[in-house]
Amino acid sequence: MPSLRAGTYDVVVVGAGVLGAWTAFYLRQRGLKTLLVDAWEPGHLRGSSSGETRVIRTGYGARRLYTRWAWQALAQWKHWEQVWGTELFHRLGVLWLHEAESEYTRESLAALAEEGIPVERIVPDDLPVRYPQISPTGIGFAYLEPEAGVVMARRAVQAVIKAFVKAEGEWQLGRVQPPNYSTHRNRQLDEIRLVDGTKLAAASFVFACGAWLPELFPEQLANFLRVTKQEVFFFRPPAENAHFHAGALPVWMDGDFYGIPALGRSGFKVADGGLGPPFEPTLGERVASAEGTARARQHLALRFPAMKDRPLVEAQVC
Ligand SMILES: Cc1cc2nc3c(=O)[nH]c(=O)nc-3n(C[C@H](O)[C@H](O)[C@H](O)COP(=O)(O)OP(=O)(O)OC[C@H]3O[C@@H](n4cnc5c(N)ncnc54)[C@H](O)[C@@H]3O)c2cc1C
Repeated sequence: MPSLRAGTYDVVVVGAGVLGAWTAFYLRQRGLKTLLVDAWEPGHLRGSSSGETRVIRTGYGARRLYTRWAWQALAQWKHWEQVWGTELFHRLGVLWLHEAESEYTRESLAALAEEGIPVERIVPDDLPVRYPQISPTGIGFAYLEPEAGVVMARRAVQAVIKAFVKAEGEWQLGRVQPPNYSTHRNRQLDEIRLVDGTKLAAASFVFACGAWLPELFPEQLANFLRVTKQEVFFFRPPAENAHFHAGALPVWMDGDFYGIPALGRSGFKVADGGLGPPFEPTLGERVASAEGTARARQHLALRFPAMKDRPLVEAQVC
């Protein structure tokens, strides 16, 4: 790394979602003078990392790097929640429901075996015995990742940033302008600017800007990264039984759909993992569509019949 000019940082990390927050935290752990900048406050609702909950699971088909990283990340969440004395991870298990065994399931299970990650195969006939709230229609192959579960996403990102600042990492609120490479020798950045003109100098920069990356690097990324509208729905489970609450049901993955049982103040979460229409992350209207709501309800009717007419209590656009 080049030597520093006075008043400069080793690294400026732009974007304080989960990727930027952890990056800044670990750079600081290694003793680097690090600044973390975001256009909005930690945990703001426009970022992808700011949902109440996010699933952490290790099955990713043939993408073994994801399996390894997810398993390592899970260990990190469990380690740091102990150190910080705050509950960030819920080990609910993740239940995979498939029509049949496939290349994807074979690759996932092989990757989990290679990493020594526990898996429990579930005979489809046993599903309604073990989980009477699930209708097994169309399921021919199922397995459980018992160690996987849910990270309390917004709270977790805020906890990482708090620990970064406590370790004398620096935090600044400010929107970074798209870097202008033409003014830098060899297209090597040595400073960036906030929209108010403030200059931030560093030896290195990390841009962890999620859905805003194409806007910051149009030349490199506009044709490469597609930002889409993703909708998430929360339904109120019946008060008279606990079948749809955390503890009674794992997280479930079911074709394009996945969900999380009611947890904390959140209702029964249902999301369509299929890609939605293009979306502008700063100005796009965050109103869930009637079609998306209807698709979520259809899925409830198929898989969790007792939930199909339950009231929608919250819908989020991410
Ligand atoms: C609906 C939905 C559900 C998901 N569910 C899961 C799940 O269950 N499990 C899972 O593993 N993953 C899930 N994901 C994916 C996961 O949430 C994302 O991969 C992750 O949060 C991305 O984090 P990030 O730090 O890259 O981006 P973000 O969290 O979006 O952070 C980017 C940050 O950069 C900041 N920024 C952008 N531009 C600038 C600028 N010019 N100046 C300063 N700051 C800037 C933004 O303000 C923002 O805070 C889901 C995603 C969505 C949308």
